[in-house]
Formats: sequence, structure tokens, C-alpha cells
Amino acid sequence: MRDTDLTKLLGWPGYRVYRHEIDEEAKTLKLWVRRKRGHQKLVCSGCGRELEKAHDVNERVVHDLPCMEFRTTVVVEVYRVCCPDCGIKVEKVPQLPTKAPFSKRFEDAVGQACESAAARQVALRFGLAASTVRAIDLRYLERWAADRRKPVLAQMGVDEIHLGKKQKFITVVSNLDSAEPVWFGRERKKETLDGFFEGELTGRQRMRITAACVDMWEPYRLSIEQWAPNCRIVYDKFHVMQHANKAIDEVRRAEFFRKGGVMRGLVKGKRWLLLSRWMNLSSTKRQELTELFAMNRKIFKAYLLKESLDRLWTYRSEGAMVNYLHRWIDQLRWQRLKPFQKLAETLVSHLDGILNYCRTKVPLGIVEAINGNIKCLLRRGRGYRNLSYLLLKAQRMAATRTEFVAFRKAA
Ligand SMILES: [Zn+2]
Repeated sequence: MRDTDLTKLLGWPGYRVYRHEIDEEAKTLKLWVRRKRGHQKLVCSGCGRELEKAHDVNERVVHDLPCMEFRTTVVVEVYRVCCPDCGIKVEKVPQLPTKAPFSKRFEDAVGQACESAAARQVALRFGLAASTVRAIDLRYLERWAADRRKPVLAQMGVDEIHLGKKQKFITVVSNLDSAEPVWFGRERKKETLDGFFEGELTGRQRMRITAACVDMWEPYRLSIEQWAPNCRIVYDKFHVMQHANKAIDEVRRAEFFRKGGVMRGLVKGKRWLLLSRWMNLSSTKRQELTELFAMNRKIFKAYLLKESLDRLWTYRSEGAMVNYLHRWIDQLRWQRLKPFQKLAETLVSHLDGILNYCRTKVPLGIVEAINGNIKCLLRRGRGYRNLSYLLLKAQRMAATRTEFVAFRKAA
């Protein structure tokens, strides 16, 4: 094969192949590459200035995309320039975005593969170490993030996500309009969210925030009130229903421990069933629940209460919402369902924020979808020690809409 043909196959603008080596046994292709004549302008990688003269030249070896079955290595001549501003600097080569031994398009291919598969799987496919794949993926995402314009933050979501035993909770701030997470902070204290408002936003940006969907969690409320005076706090359906799910799970566990024998066997493994909406269950699953309800009235009552609370968000006026909530609380009387009584007290003391749903239109389901995506990433990646990597992954996921299962379900 002639070098001119290989130059066409390589397709690096401005570069030509001047030597090659094909190893049939090892299935490797090695190309030696240098600038074409007439393509001599050098660009300083420090400041972007164009320079005529080279200081010296070195060879760099990088992995490029495979050619047929052959793993391809490119040995490329890279110049250094003597820049009046930056001193001696290596020239800027578009195909070589970093010091790592990979071409840009190789890194792009790895990064794209990481969008839908775990790093371990991508590593196997490309014959790299998993840690190398993660490093490439991070650079790929950083380049993507640097090129895009950040959307304005007007309606925000604030949420907590449990990362695991070691890292505990992180606070997730998301943009409800662009449906993406914008910031992660460790722990879930007031100081955590303060850190976002203080460090990430200017005073003007803080004033532009009009609504926040948050959990009924005091530290978040205090922080928002302090930093974003124009922001209305909305305790949205997703967060309130999380509390209702917690309540029914407490009832289930109490019944499980109190009663022995048959009951224990019946309640065991029903957690997921009890947390599911009736309308989402198949007929066999409904049958299972019905049998459980026939045996235990308390769990039955708790399930009805959880299911009916959901209807609160079908009302569009404050009066109707308040009425419905009062009727719901009336049903609790004589039931001796402590977790639900506690929930009712929480709802009453946060009523204003719940009613804000009628006063401010916030997109529903976004916080839930972002949450779902992050949890999906965590499951797949088996823990992220690098929070900014996790954030970039989640943002990219939102931008490309690759997952968004929860979002579709909510729509
Ligand atoms: Zn320079």
C-alpha cells in the first residue's frame, strides 16, 4: 500500500503519512505522520498566536481509531514554538487535544461508548484499562462542557441523593427548565446549599430564581430564603409522595415485626408492591396485594391513604387543595397509624409551600427524572469518587436524552 493512499485513509487534515508498518500477526498498523508541505503555520498552544518558525520537533505516539482489524498507532511530528508571550510551547494540533497518548477522535469514540455502557465494558471493547477509559471519558465530557452555553437558572430543584455508606448524602441542584443537574455538593446541610448560592451564582443570578422544588427539609428552606429572595418554595408532588412512601414502609415494617408466623411470610418482600401505584400493577400483582390486605387491615388502610394523597395535585385552586387535604387528614382518625399522623403534621406545617403549586407553574417529573438518571449512573458505575465526573455524566445524559426513563413515565 502506498503512503498517499494511507494518507487518504488516515484523514488528518494537513498531515500526510511518510512511512508505515503492517504487522499481520499482531494485527497492528503503525503510521508515521508529518505536516504536508504548505501547511506550515504553527499555533501556540498557550495563547493561539500563529508563528512562522519552529523551535524544535519531537515525535509523539498516539492510539488512533482501528483500521479494519488492525489496531492503529500514529507517530506524529509535533513542533515546539518560541512564543513571544508564552515562551517555549508545544504547538496546537487539533487531533491531539491532551498530553494523553490518544487522538481526539479515539477519545471521542471512547466517550461516546461510555454514554450507554459502563466503563468496564467499554474498557474490554477498546482493550484499555477501566481507569484509562474513565479518564478519557472525563476529558471528553470536559471538552463538551467547555463548548456549550450554560442555560439560565430560573426554576430550580434541590434534592438529596444517597450515594452509599461511605459518602452518605449529596445535595443536587438542578435546572428545571433545561432538565439537567447543575451542581453537586457534599452533605445536605444549610451550609451545603449556601455554598452553591455563594460560590456558583452572582447576586443578579440569585435574584433571577423564581421557584424551587424542594423536599420538606428545613436546612434547604433556610438557605433559599436567605440567598434567593424572589424564589418561591414549592413542596412538589414527587417529594411529598416520597414521604408517603416512607410512611407506608414504616407501617409495613412495624406489622412485619409485631406479628409473627404467617403474617411475617406474607408481608415479607412486599415492599416494592406497596410502594407501587395501583394503576401501574399487573393483575397478578394486584391479586397478591388484595390477599395481603385481606389479612391485614392496617396495611390496607395505609395503602389507601398513600394512593389517595396522590390526588391532591389534581386540584388547581388553593381552596380545593386545602379541602381535600383536610378530608384526607380526617380519615386518619381512629386509625392508629402513627407514621401517617406524623406525615399529616408535616403536611399541615408545610401547607404554604404545598399550595405554592397552584401559584407557580413548575414542570413536574423533572426532579424525579434527574434523580433516576443519577441513580442509574451510580448503579452502572459502581460509585463515583469524583463528583464533578458524575455531574458531567448526568448533564450529558440529560442533554442527549439517552436514558430519562422516569421522565417518560411521568409525561
Ligand atoms: Zn503563546
